[in-house]
Amino acid sequence: LLKGLDALRDLPAETPDGTAITLLANTGLLADITPGLSRGAQGIGLYRSEIPFMMHESFPSEGEQVDIYRPVLEAYHPKPVCMRTLDIGGDKNLPYFVFTEDNPFLGWRGIRFTLDNSSIFLSQIRAMLRANIGLNNLSLLLPMISRLDEVLEFKQLLTEAVLQLESEGYEIVLPRLGIMIEVPSAMLILDQLAEHIDFISIGSNDFTQYLLAVDRNNVKVSQLYSWFQPAVLRGLKSVVTQAKALGLPTSLCGEMAADPAAVILLMGMGIDQLSMSAYTLPKTKWVIRSIPQSVAVSVWNEVQLMKTESAIRQRLTEVLEQHG
Ligand code: PEP
Ligand code: MG
Repeated sequence: LLKGLDALRDLPAETPDGTAITLLANTGLLADITPGLSRGAQGIGLYRSEIPFMMHESFPSEGEQVDIYRPVLEAYHPKPVCMRTLDIGGDKNLPYFVFTEDNPFLGWRGIRFTLDNSSIFLSQIRAMLRANIGLNNLSLLLPMISRLDEVLEFKQLLTEAVLQLESEGYEIVLPRLGIMIEVPSAMLILDQLAEHIDFISIGSNDFTQYLLAVDRNNVKVSQLYSWFQPAVLRGLKSVVTQAKALGLPTSLCGEMAADPAAVILLMGMGIDQLSMSAYTLPKTKWVIRSIPQSVAVSVWNEVQLMKTESAIRQRLTEVLEQHG
């Protein structure tokens, strides 16, 4: 089976009836580069920049960060690399910057933390822009966006970084800018956010957690955590439909992209791009190449009418068995 999956690498991620979906890799480690490329990733859809920060003993300097980001951009060049700015807080902590909160997932996390620590943020933005010089395959992604102000404040910092670097003699090309859709409020103001961004990436892990108000790491409630809940599926469909109308390219980069049953529904909703851990790419590609888009659309139409997670799962299992 594994051999069969490897043989998929050079085949397009295209349904039998001709719908292409871009498949990208999630990473945060240089060691993941080869697995991604060898499994046919068309780029990096999510570079989790907190991972190198978590592996350091103190905040990496701007120069150290350039040396971390540049090899990733180079390895994939000219394929696109989407680097997410620091997403610490929640369950992701830096050993050298400890703070405790009663509700860390609702607290000082992602863009909230970085906007409050603008010198750290500025050094990261400057490092990413410098790493991209002469390559121009970088795009930037902002985590945990819940309000428009966060995007606007970020853009001010970005402008500041660009002006500083240009005055230091660097030639900077502005990368494309995207936001994570993982806090439900972002879904409700997507039209307002859209004017200021180039693309979106749905973080299905947090989107599910925040929409259902279920801490996925708490065993007492983790059985309630499911992206097959009708409310989550409606939320996802709303994001995809709105984004299409607004002309925003849409990717999904949570674990859902590696769940074959979920991939059928995402195809049916009309998603453009999926990003996942390198090791799960072949499995997702296999689903895309096995199930016609027309089938995915009709399965999604059926599932939309279902009221329970168990009925939805059962139907998807049947479809997978029929096609595999
Ligand atoms: C997500 O929330 O789905 C996501 C991809 O981000 P992370 O898992 O890093 O929070
Ligand atoms: Mg997330």
